[in-house]
Amino acid sequence: MDTKRITVTSPLLPNLEEFHTLLQEIWDSKWITNNGSFHKQLEKELATYLKVPFISLFTNGTLPLITALQALHITGEVITTPYSFVATTHSLWWNGIKPVFVDVDLATGNIDPEKIEAAITPRTTAIMPVHVYGTPCDTRRIQKIADKYGLKVVYDAAHAFGVDIKGKSILTEGEMSTLSFHATKVYNTIEGGALVMHDEQTKKHIDYLKNFGFAGETEVVAPGINSKMDEMRAAYGLLNLRQVDAAIESRRQVALQYRETLRDVLGIRFMDDISGVRHNYAYFPIFVDEKLYGMTRDELYFKMKEQGVLGRRYFYPLISTFTTYRGLKSACPENLPNAHKLADSVICLPMHHELSREDVERILNLIVK
Ligand SMILES: *Cc1c(COP(=O)(O)O)cnc(C)c1O
Repeated sequence: MDTKRITVTSPLLPNLEEFHTLLQEIWDSKWITNNGSFHKQLEKELATYLKVPFISLFTNGTLPLITALQALHITGEVITTPYSFVATTHSLWWNGIKPVFVDVDLATGNIDPEKIEAAITPRTTAIMPVHVYGTPCDTRRIQKIADKYGLKVVYDAAHAFGVDIKGKSILTEGEMSTLSFHATKVYNTIEGGALVMHDEQTKKHIDYLKNFGFAGETEVVAPGINSKMDEMRAAYGLLNLRQVDAAIESRRQVALQYRETLRDVLGIRFMDDISGVRHNYAYFPIFVDEKLYGMTRDELYFKMKEQGVLGRRYFYPLISTFTTYRGLKSACPENLPNAHKLADSVICLPMHHELSREDVERILNLIVK
């Protein structure tokens, strides 16, 4: 029996010798953090690669969420999705904001714009959607609702690195968008993240906020935080940026191979590419219909695990079921039937740039009966 473990993800790592060369430069300069030259260069190159006007680097993908809410002075209630990584909702909580959960669309897993208006109250100030698995939200309809009620939109775009619609980045939607460069993401700086904004003034303010609010040697303009990316991670990020397109192409090949076989498996649903969208293949979720498939999601999940194939149940359990949030009125399961349906049926199959055709075949053989 093949016992090699196949993990759900594998980090994209730069060439060690190339990284060493850049580290030597950092050692020579003795400038190791605080907007150093690699930090500046990575911001410049990322803005170009992502086709966004302005970007500010962070130490992770959670602090840009918290900082965006601070910068926009968002208070009261914010409409968001329970079908995400827990950091989305935590960022609201850390700002003293009450999350209001709205159900998701079964096809995409993204917040259902149809259900947003009914959740708006006089205390609502913003909407925080997530481009789940990198699939673009219905940004046009969300913006229309936001404009009608005077709400801000902040996108958690942690999954959406490099995702375009007809050549236009989805990171320019809403007031701001956040990215995560965590090790498990399509593009990583080990730990890291960023905030994307529309204008120079906002970038300047965000740059102050991530550095305690310092606008100069002695001037503090706002109660900021410390979330600056250091020079080692910026250098690492520059090297990874050069190979991320190749990594996305490898992921695409894996997705094609999965789809080719799974299309014929009764009771297994997956997501197809959307025409006009440049996908990043960050995840490959499948949804198990236990009646049609003849096995529950967990039975399949643990069967795969026993054979050394480590999928992940993203996103299970739902954020709305965690202790902090389950007391909220909007967290009751009757309000979120689609989100529960997805959470109870999903397995994200292994998806990364190093999976071979044989690896994928081995995974598929466990699913095809
Ligand atoms: C990964 C992730 C985050 C948090 O990013 P970190 O870099 O781990 O702090 C936030 N939101 C979503 C949807 C994520 O997947």
